[in-house]
Amino acid sequence: MHQMRAEYGAGGAAEGVRLWHVVRGEESVAMCGRELDPQAEVRVAVDWGKTPELCCHTCGAYFLREAPYLAAEHQ
Ligand SMILES: [Zn+2]
Repeated sequence: MHQMRAEYGAGGAAEGVRLWHVVRGEESVAMCGRELDPQAEVRVAVDWGKTPELCCHTCGAYFLREAPYLAAEHQ
């Protein structure tokens, strides 16, 4: 089970989402190794690639490898 977790800029959540990462379950460390705020906004993984904000390319590569069915479904 994966979900998307937001990375914020220097201004925090008020500044808006800078980049979306993928985490496993409820973890706060992204698949690319970046530590994210445990309080940061999350989204369901099926929204990957559908957000107006950018998605982390490294997380995307890991995510597609671990969840190929989920990834195929939302193309
Ligand atoms: Zn990432």
